[in-house]
Amino acid sequence: MDLGIKGRRALVCASSKGLGRGCAEALAAEGVNLVLNARGSEALEATAEAIRAEYGVDVTAVAADITTEAGQAEVLSVAGPIDILVTNAGGPPPGMWTDWSRDDFIAAFDANLLTPIALIKATLPDMMERGWGRIVNITSVAVKAPIPVLGLSNTARSGLTGYVAGVSRQVAGSGVTVNNLLPGLHDTDRLQMLDKVDAAAQGITEDAARAARTATIPAGRFGTAEEFGAACAWLCSDKAGFVIGQNILLDGGAFPGAM
Ligand code: NAP
Repeated sequence: MDLGIKGRRALVCASSKGLGRGCAEALAAEGVNLVLNARGSEALEATAEAIRAEYGVDVTAVAADITTEAGQAEVLSVAGPIDILVTNAGGPPPGMWTDWSRDDFIAAFDANLLTPIALIKATLPDMMERGWGRIVNITSVAVKAPIPVLGLSNTARSGLTGYVAGVSRQVAGSGVTVNNLLPGLHDTDRLQMLDKVDAAAQGITEDAARAARTATIPAGRFGTAEEFGAACAWLCSDKAGFVIGQNILLDGGAFPGAM
């Protein structure tokens, strides 16, 4: 299926690795020109070069911390007008409810709530004026099924979910869609870090921690960044213009609800 977005321009945040990179690659495979971002320039430049070589699209890389106002300003100014925005950033650290101070919550809100809101506010007006746009936020299964050790993430991402539910409907008539993609367990660096934390907390090996996590997934495996990216590209496609304010879960069946 031709997704109808060849020649469009996308900003994909936090995209040198993992799910962000999966989204960037899937968009590039559809002929979308890209602005990529991450803090570390080495991995970012390597990813940009690999995508240019494989898909022949224009790729601009901006090394910056997207969770800071200065980083957002730099990325947005290099990006210029965009048709597609994929918001993403690293997730907050795990812990216990007793660990989290006000400053920890502010940091999580900055990264996973206020950053996507700032990027949405900055890019929506131009998309609306041109009558077409796609915004996809990478959030988490945690908004449907909160994960106790990820309380900072649960709290920040629930706020973003509420924000998107309202804004997406306010702008739907302008040809711009805003939706969220909710990753369940995907095989990325982030998951390896969480396996390490679990293994240390329970006195088990990382392999055992990973096996226990896999056992919670009816599909019997972790998701891949490629699968995640394919869902993102579809949501950003011309074909998905009637999908407004949705929270699409990719979790191998782990969430046990009917909807
Ligand atoms: P990942 O493999 O660790 O990749 C994170 C990417 O984001 C890297 O390119 C990293 O590059 C970049 N990044 C991190 N912080 C950044 C910042 N402040 N500014 C700019 N770039 C930044 O993580 P992932 O697994 O793809 O996860 C992506 C998001 O999905 C996270 O918020 C995570 O919590 C959430 N999530 C993941 C899963 C899962 O199973 N993987 C499940 C639920 C939710 P630099 O470090 O160089 O900046």
